[in-house]
Amino acid sequence: MRNIEHFINGASFAGASSRQPVFNPATGEIVADVAMGGEAELQAAVDAARAAQPQWAATNPQRRARVLMKFVDLVNANMKPLAELMSLEHGKTVADSMGDIQRGIDVAEFAIGIPHLGKGEFTTGAGPSIDMYSMHQPIGIGAGISPFNFPAMIPLWMSMPAIACGNAFIMKPSERDPSVPVRLAELLLEAGLPKGVFNVLHGGKEAVDAILAHPAIGAVSFVGSTPIAAHVYAEAARQGKRVQAFGGAKNHAIVMPDADMNMVADGLIGAAYGSAGERCMAISVAVPVGEGTAERMMKVLKPRVEALKVGPYTDSSVDFGPVVTAAAQAKIKSLVDSGVTEGAELVVDGREFRLQGYEKGFYVGACLFDHVTPRMEIYKQEIFGPVLSVVRAANADAALELVNNHEYGNGVCIFTRDGDVARNFSRQVQIGMVGINIPIPTPLAYYGFGGWKRSVFGDLNQHGPDSIRFWTRTKTVTERWPSSVLPGAEFSMPVFSGTK
Ligand code: NAD
Repeated sequence: MRNIEHFINGASFAGASSRQPVFNPATGEIVADVAMGGEAELQAAVDAARAAQPQWAATNPQRRARVLMKFVDLVNANMKPLAELMSLEHGKTVADSMGDIQRGIDVAEFAIGIPHLGKGEFTTGAGPSIDMYSMHQPIGIGAGISPFNFPAMIPLWMSMPAIACGNAFIMKPSERDPSVPVRLAELLLEAGLPKGVFNVLHGGKEAVDAILAHPAIGAVSFVGSTPIAAHVYAEAARQGKRVQAFGGAKNHAIVMPDADMNMVADGLIGAAYGSAGERCMAISVAVPVGEGTAERMMKVLKPRVEALKVGPYTDSSVDFGPVVTAAAQAKIKSLVDSGVTEGAELVVDGREFRLQGYEKGFYVGACLFDHVTPRMEIYKQEIFGPVLSVVRAANADAALELVNNHEYGNGVCIFTRDGDVARNFSRQVQIGMVGINIPIPTPLAYYGFGGWKRSVFGDLNQHGPDSIRFWTRTKTVTERWPSSVLPGAEFSMPVFSGTK
């Protein structure tokens, strides 16, 4: 069996901590075991980061960018084996894993712009013989804590801008699919990143607690479920760290009466069931406006859901794979049970899905609920599985109110042909990322990614210009040189001297 070790100071590092099994969700078999780090292993990573960071920060931004360019080439050259390794531990299809890696590379490409992105501002003659300028200096050591569902994309979203800005980085990936971040660390080294600049510390709560408590770590980026995000945010802030923490989601798709139903069905099938619904931007609630719209939508949707093909990532014809663990499988099924008990109509029931030869895999077939109401647990909770709930709304105002009243605020989509309706909706909806006839409106690398409400704690988004602000501190210098200064001391505070 494979042992997955930490990656510290440019090399594999076993540490002395306990270990945990890693599963292949398609078969339910253990395929590896992973080191579960604690304080001692974190200290080794901090020591490596601390030693490497000053030199890396002093490397000019163009040279830092060149390392990332080489890295992008190496990831592209290794795309297929990386994707297969990801699918082995995550369960999603190889095509989905490639998409995961690609969206991560997009942010590496964005970060290559650091010579431009990292520039400060300059004002000549800000006062008599006075110039003023600002600069963005790296924080020092940053840490990332990522969820299982995007094992390449999210570590890269966190680390690429951080490294480009001249920080050293400690990545704490999910313990459920930890191999890909280690491969990325090896490829960064091969691309010329000095050892110690990017380190991988494996583990769970103990490793996270150690990160939050360590005084040398200046900034923490977290992505995961809302209760842990809230905890990480509060604890990191209490420790005086800069922190951004992204949480769970319940993303709605509003279907207006004038929507193109084939476009709606295509969109919902991909967005609700792709990657077994294990995406923070997955659509988990469809809201047809008006009974006629609901009837037309269900007529098109139901056979499409029934036809979805579920299976292992090794079969390239499947639409989606298993969910990540046996615990996730049990939780999803029990939430579906609760929906039935609470009176929703389970139109497509995937709970008993079995695949010959893969009986121990963590599969859940596609489920489709109609007549879901906001008081039901299947509506309130993030299910994070292949389950779509249909909540029928009487009119567009009721649909908007429904979305705005939900505690989560990550993504939303509206299907309509009416520009006025779409424009008003996008202005009034209390959600961070809005799609108009686009079911998964994940912003591209040069915009920021982040939700509202309890989908986020903190104020700067992932990637885009916010990421450069997040991973740097601004310093402003006000300067005057002796040759331009008239003799005589000034004792008063400079004040505004009127409009002339
Ligand atoms: P999770 O919260 O279980 O784990 C996330 C990270 O926290 C992991 O690295 C894990 O090791 C660590 N962790 C787990 N328990 C901890 C504890 N008690 N204390 C400290 N750290 C702990 O999340 P997950 O199941 O891996 O991922 C799925 C969740 O992530 C979903 O809720 C999904 O919506 C969310 N997510 C959000 C975004 C976003 O950008 N908003 C993106 C992807 C995923």
